[in-house]
Amino acid sequence: MITTYHRPKTLTEALTLIAQPKTYPLGGGIQLSQFSDEAFKVVDLQALALNGISKKGSTLEVGATATLQALLETPDLPDSLKKAIQHEASLNTRNTATVAGTLVASDGRSPFAVMMMALDAKITLRDTNNEEENIQIGDLLPLREEKLQKKLITQISIPTNTKSAYEYVARTPADKAIVCAALTQWSAGRTRLVLGGWSTSPALAMDGKGAEGIEAAAKNAAHDATDAWASAEYRQDVAATLAQRCLA
Ligand SMILES: Cc1cc2nc3c(=O)[nH]c(=O)nc-3n(C[C@H](O)[C@H](O)[C@H](O)COP(=O)(O)OP(=O)(O)OC[C@H]3O[C@@H](n4cnc5c(N)ncnc54)[C@H](O)[C@@H]3O)c2cc1C
Repeated sequence: MITTYHRPKTLTEALTLIAQPKTYPLGGGIQLSQFSDEAFKVVDLQALALNGISKKGSTLEVGATATLQALLETPDLPDSLKKAIQHEASLNTRNTATVAGTLVASDGRSPFAVMMMALDAKITLRDTNNEEENIQIGDLLPLREEKLQKKLITQISIPTNTKSAYEYVARTPADKAIVCAALTQWSAGRTRLVLGGWSTSPALAMDGKGAEGIEAAAKNAAHDATDAWASAEYRQDVAATLAQRCLA
């Protein structure tokens, strides 16, 4: 339950506020406005002008409070990323959910988190001493509770000099994925495959030069992926097929 609402006008003020106990940054508020027994305060980030999206060289810089829909509507966005954002949430949710809030609230079934990890997105954090830190998304997601203590995500940087693909298998086109795969290739040959559909964070299956052995890497990454939705054996087969489909 939200007991106190702050809407700071500066990043410094916001960082001072989130240093207080039980005080959380609020993006779109979809998760934070749900019923909870815990009493907590929120710091709404909407007045901080952190919602810009701009291309700098071969990087797309996305402000933390940009909505999923604003990112989806960005000119020249890769089709793979558009597909993952559309699979993440319906239009109403996309209009409210922020990119940072979605990543922090994500689990292994989030198409957006899977795609961001395949793109090896860089996350910019600001701490309560106003110091900036850059961290790759794959280092943040599994440890997000620890890494985000008294810190704000201010920006997500996505490389644009890549080719990428997103494929998934679900019970229906709009349902959560049982297995999803995102693949990115850089012009120098670096190939990065990330799988999702289970667990608390996406799984990095491959990051190396070229795509040799991609099916084996996909199977290996899903070796313990059994849950109520599917067995690991089924996911291993599907993951290998989706990896090939992404490559094609
Ligand atoms: C009941 C429920 C129903 C949902 N339904 C759907 C659905 O139908 N479709 C769907 O796709 N998703 C759904 N979601 C998930 C939802 O998409 C995500 O919770 C949402 O994308 C989060 O974005 P937000 O900006 O609203 O985050 P918020 O609710 O504002 O924040 C989520 C988390 O991120 C943290 N955070 C936010 N911004 C920052 C920042 N800049 N730096 C550090 N931490 C930050 C917050 O403190 C909080 O811990 C649902 C979630 C819940 C709880």
